[in-house]
Amino acid sequence: MEADTIAAISTPIGEGAIAIVRLSGPEATEIANGLFQGVSLTSVDSHTIHYGKIIDPSTNEVAEEVMVTVMKGPRTFTREDVVEINCHGGLASVNRLLELVLYQGARMAEPGEFTKRAFLNGRIDLSQAEAVMDLIRAKTDKAMNVALKQMDGRLSNLIARLRQELLETVAHVEVNIDYPEYDDVEEMSHQMLIEKTRHVYSEIERLLEMAKQGKILREGLATAIIGRPNVGKSSLLNALVQENKAIVTDIPGTTRDVIEEYVNIRGVPLRLVDTAGIRETEDIVERIGVERSRQVLKESDLILLVLNNNSELTEEDILLFQAVEGLEVIVIVNKTDLDQKIDLDKVKQLAENQKVITTALIEEKGIDELEQAIADTFFEGELDVGDLTYVSNVRHIQLLKQSLQSLSDAMHGIEEGMPIDLVQIDVTRTWELLGEIIGDAVHESLIDQLFSQFCLGK
Ligand code: GDP
Ligand code: ZN
Repeated sequence: MEADTIAAISTPIGEGAIAIVRLSGPEATEIANGLFQGVSLTSVDSHTIHYGKIIDPSTNEVAEEVMVTVMKGPRTFTREDVVEINCHGGLASVNRLLELVLYQGARMAEPGEFTKRAFLNGRIDLSQAEAVMDLIRAKTDKAMNVALKQMDGRLSNLIARLRQELLETVAHVEVNIDYPEYDDVEEMSHQMLIEKTRHVYSEIERLLEMAKQGKILREGLATAIIGRPNVGKSSLLNALVQENKAIVTDIPGTTRDVIEEYVNIRGVPLRLVDTAGIRETEDIVERIGVERSRQVLKESDLILLVLNNNSELTEEDILLFQAVEGLEVIVIVNKTDLDQKIDLDKVKQLAENQKVITTALIEEKGIDELEQAIADTFFEGELDVGDLTYVSNVRHIQLLKQSLQSLSDAMHGIEEGMPIDLVQIDVTRTWELLGEIIGDAVHESLIDQLFSQFCLGK
């Protein structure tokens, strides 16, 4: 079926002031030309920009002043003819523009349809298409960088390389089986086979390792603020967010609404949760015991444990310390503007390897130090942000895990002296699973489902 021409509002990332109506398909230029007063768009060179006016054909009135970019396929994102109409007006003007374009015969694009076309026309592979999706959703600069890298095909290249290795192995084995008399081809020994598979195995493992960090970058470090009532948890959240979205009150335990905030602390994305959950962590230890609260708190990537400088350490404080032992914790001694009643030596002793920061949140003191401590905590690990190229996508992670499983089956088979052509089945299966990541041999319904998650106009 010949593709029709689609249109949607598409605002470029990071450029709020300009709105774009984008067209893609065989009629793109003609449709735009039917509305355009200026040069004849159908006779201009590809990849050129033209100033002119959009005329409403029903009234012959000037609707907008625009810049129109004409790009002929296949050197475009979708590989089809693409026209972008840039207008500086607000939402109303861009909506009007879209209406006119639809009136001229374009069809409203489904969410993700531009990217879907790019994929179907072989312009990008599936993991790149998914990266476009991640990019749109990215909440922090770093998450955006990861998506950008995936978009430029780094994951695809690595996966392709691993598949190639597997394919060569399989082919080698096949030659050995089919042409046993063929002396030029070295016999693929069990030893060689196991070395090859082991290598691919460790590469996949590495990808999965990085996936966890990718998740952090994309979703933010899950950060829990815990402490007794009234020590300043909500104040801390507010200080970090620098907007008064969480309710701060004098009455203990009045933060009721579930509030999730994303903050970017010196390049580290945090997902802060100040919820009933925090109130839970106020009495969580008493309620469910140290061991079980540990399990709950373990789900956090970072814990900010708040203490009150103006009060002696209580039994509750000590239980909290026990509950967070061994986890990533920063201890915050707040209210240093008030008399010191807390035993700081004792705190340091309880904190052992954890950082201790003192703050007077009410006077906005100590926040810099805290932010530095958060950044250090994150970067001190072997987390190399420059290397965070790869996986941050749930579907990819699942496929990688399955690949790992079938490779491990293959390796077991080899070790147990299974016939090599049986082992090969698992290796081939791994090759297929990896192929699904980049969209080789994926089912059409999956494609539809993936692209339907996109925003409109992408
Ligand atoms: P939460 O119950 O742990 O969330 O504590 P809040 O953030 O709601 O703070 C409880 C009370 O302590 C509020 O009245 C805050 O204004 C106050 N507070 C917070 N930080 C400080 C501080 O550094 N110094 C003083 N004096 N009061 C503070
Ligand atoms: Zn609170």
